[in-house]
Amino acid sequence: RETSEKLYQEAEEHIVGGVNSPSRAFKGVGGGTPVFMEKGQGAYFWDVDGNKYIDYLGAYGPIITGHAHPHITDAITNAAQNGVLYGTPTKLENKFAKMLKDAIPSLEKVRFVNSGTEAVMTTIRVARAYTNRTKVIKFAGCYHGHSDPVLVAAGSGPSTLGTPDSAGVPSSIAKEVITVPFNDASALDEALDQYGDDIAAVLVEPIVGNFGIVEPKPGFLEKVKELTHQNGSLLIFDEVITAFRFHYGSAQELTGITADMTAMGKIIGGGLPIGAYGGLVDIMEQVAPLGPAYQAGTMSGNPASMAAGIACLEVLKEDGVYEKLNHLGEKLEHGMLKLAEKHGISVSINRLKGALTLYFTDEEITNYEQAENTDGEMFARFFKLMLDQGINLAPSKYEAWFLTIAHTDEDIDKTLEA
Ligand code: PLP
Repeated sequence: RETSEKLYQEAEEHIVGGVNSPSRAFKGVGGGTPVFMEKGQGAYFWDVDGNKYIDYLGAYGPIITGHAHPHITDAITNAAQNGVLYGTPTKLENKFAKMLKDAIPSLEKVRFVNSGTEAVMTTIRVARAYTNRTKVIKFAGCYHGHSDPVLVAAGSGPSTLGTPDSAGVPSSIAKEVITVPFNDASALDEALDQYGDDIAAVLVEPIVGNFGIVEPKPGFLEKVKELTHQNGSLLIFDEVITAFRFHYGSAQELTGITADMTAMGKIIGGGLPIGAYGGLVDIMEQVAPLGPAYQAGTMSGNPASMAAGIACLEVLKEDGVYEKLNHLGEKLEHGMLKLAEKHGISVSINRLKGALTLYFTDEEITNYEQAENTDGEMFARFFKLMLDQGINLAPSKYEAWFLTIAHTDEDIDKTLEA
């Protein structure tokens, strides 16, 4: 880890915190020096010291085709070589918008931005413009990005982001967002009773990606939609992590419940920065110049991201892609459960297709902390078994694994053997 060590020291001088910063990066066995990655190809990563890893994190989700998929890198190269024009409409943007609309029927009009955070924030601004109301109800554990302070303050993050102090937001502003438990429609009902006329929107991840792959209970989303509409509020689905994750389209086709507006990001950028939001046409007409919700963005709809997104969806449209993810996911899930049993470790797994979340009990974490010197990190013993073999995991009580279409049966076998 010599080169990583040097780069880390350099980074400490120049870069401040955040999930992707060196201070939170993948640290390798037992904590220590964060690993700097140099190259990604398919399901693999190589760090700056030449160590090879099987990557199950996929840059927190966007990399579903594997690193450097040739169809996507060619598309990006072409867009760049054609002279990347900003601030003008392009054919690529039209084409990509149509592909998203064709895949997700509730999108009558879409608009591109540069990140999932921007997409969510803009849906809220549009909902406020449409309803002339200000407050938003969200669900505990759902994550909606890092920028809108009220969302962060209301408990977007699974850990310390949950308090106004840690988000740097005065509690008066934090009151603009009300947080209720996921899968609890009666809590939503009560909140709507209390704040009724003030609620512009109800915002939810239809399948929660950020505290695990948590699916809605039967009837939950249906009830959410009914209560939201009865109250004259808009239903916004945050599909930044779910769109194109489980099938060619969004979680709403899977759950059968559609949203008034949808925010997207991650996978749809094919690895480049992107966000998109869309919805019913009369709502989307709140966006300027037709309506009051100003929307700009120097890089919005930039041709390189559009080209990457189109190419990514073309790859995902091929036959058998999601079946492969399901097969690999199933294999990994079964293998992990068997392994956990063998080592006497309590773990539960939520899985949908190629996305898995492992949960470790508090007891398991405590056992591990007492047994090992982990440099203050909360690794479970199970993680160490993985980490010793150079498998890429971030420290957590629960851990999401994202398979890509580049992973193979052999990768899973090797992981389980490790
Ligand atoms: N919403 C959800 C559901 C997400 O998973 C994320 C990112 O993890 C975001 C919003 C924020 O997206 P971005 O990190 O692109 O700003």
